[in-house]
Amino acid sequence: MAKTYGNFINGEWQPSACGKTFADFNPAHKHEVVAEFQESEAADATRAVDAASKAADGWARMAAPKRADFLRKASEILRRRRDEAAEALTREEGKNIGEARGEVDRSIGLLHFYSGQYTGLSGETIPSFMDTRFLYTYRAPLGVVALITPWNFPSAIPVWKSAPALLCGNTVVMKPSSLAPLSAAIFTEVLAEAGLPPGVFNFVTGGGRLIGETLINDSRVRGISFTGSREVGKSIMRTTADRLIRVGLEMGGKNPMIVMDDANIDRAVEDTVVGAFWAAGHKCTATSRAIVLEKSHDEFVEKIVKRTQALRIGDGMDPKTEICPIIDDNQLNKILEYVALGKKEGATLLTGGERLTSGAYADGHYMTPAIFSGMKPGMRTEQEEIFGPVLGIIKVKDLDEAIAVANKIDFGLAAGICTGNLKAAMEFSRRSDAGLIHVNSPTAGVELQSPFGGCKESTSGYREMGKAALDFYSQTKTVYMDA
Ligand code: NAD
Repeated sequence: MAKTYGNFINGEWQPSACGKTFADFNPAHKHEVVAEFQESEAADATRAVDAASKAADGWARMAAPKRADFLRKASEILRRRRDEAAEALTREEGKNIGEARGEVDRSIGLLHFYSGQYTGLSGETIPSFMDTRFLYTYRAPLGVVALITPWNFPSAIPVWKSAPALLCGNTVVMKPSSLAPLSAAIFTEVLAEAGLPPGVFNFVTGGGRLIGETLINDSRVRGISFTGSREVGKSIMRTTADRLIRVGLEMGGKNPMIVMDDANIDRAVEDTVVGAFWAAGHKCTATSRAIVLEKSHDEFVEKIVKRTQALRIGDGMDPKTEICPIIDDNQLNKILEYVALGKKEGATLLTGGERLTSGAYADGHYMTPAIFSGMKPGMRTEQEEIFGPVLGIIKVKDLDEAIAVANKIDFGLAAGICTGNLKAAMEFSRRSDAGLIHVNSPTAGVELQSPFGGCKESTSGYREMGKAALDFYSQTKTVYMDA
């Protein structure tokens, strides 16, 4: 029988006020319940903020290397539980077990990385105009922070928010997506085993609107870090505007890959397929537009269609699976509606875009990866985030046009170029509107020790991961000290 997780509040696993639960289903076997979680009420979220507020002063006063030591212990515990955590991730989110192990490894790496970053919590000493004055700055925590996370990286995103938040001395209330809360629950168990003091980290599950908005509207919450859709991100910004608290939003993308006329086409095809279709395109950094110069266009189209048709679709628990299931039926319907819209808008569907319902596929949410050619700038399918295995190919005449098409969009998360021409690569990396720029690598690859985030409507401007995350989770105080 599937395990039922409580909320984790003030160091204790506990049921929600109403006692109701909801199920976390396996997208590859849609009737299989992976685990049960609390359908919390507003009162549960408020109790989590009570606990985080109570713990805030003690945690902020603890020496940073001691706080860091909890993260080191957590990285060791998660390393011990790596295989189990990866399997749980595949079963709740669907992605291939190899990718799930990679994600859990990233979580372990993030905990390890931040456990060594306490030296990064330094300030400046500044020569004063006064003979007797010692003038310096230090980084103070924000206080209680609410971390709201999506379903598509259910292990790594909770960790990449929590680890720097805790290191900086904040206490945390985490609310994961109801579509995949198990990985965050395992992370909570890991933190509990590492011995975090009660109330420092709290975990509450339940409806996004109810729990999310309760946290956001609580005046004791001084920072919110949200990753998810642009619509919800903007609503959080509007709701919190009056309180002027720190808000970090990382949202969607519609990421282009430019294929130049000098590109190695086989490599460009591989990088585009990996970027567009791995994890069923459920990545904010997934490639969704291939912008291809005329000379490369026909060869690229022929080869990418052939490669895509050979991809193996199936349960992510099979290590040979390349295209995993879609997270749920709502998302699958939404993607298929976009495929229908692409046809209506006049793009040519070259392959895929069909629901799979027979044999082993009948048990899960499966579709064939779709490629459109003849996509035109400005079509809705070219502008809106689909968040599934759908790629549109746009033919352009030169680099200037390619960059103009790549940038003519409200999003600005990731962008890539395939070229052997250094000048083109430099020109693209200077003029691209994206926050993450790839030259000869898939748009969907990031490293934990470097800043992560987008431009334009993909972000509210802060960066996650790397040392940059410390700037979000701390505030500078300037001390004028006279004897
Ligand atoms: P979502 O916006 O539906 O939900 C994200 C989180 O917000 C969930 O925990 C949800 O319960 C919660 N939520 C929902 N309504 C809320 C409200 N009114 N107030 C507060 N919280 C609320 O997004 P999703 O479907 O879980 O994730 C997919 C989206 O996330 C895509 O747009 C994708 O591009 C984006 N994403 C971005 C990044 C990035 O770093 N830029 C990474 C991963 C995913």
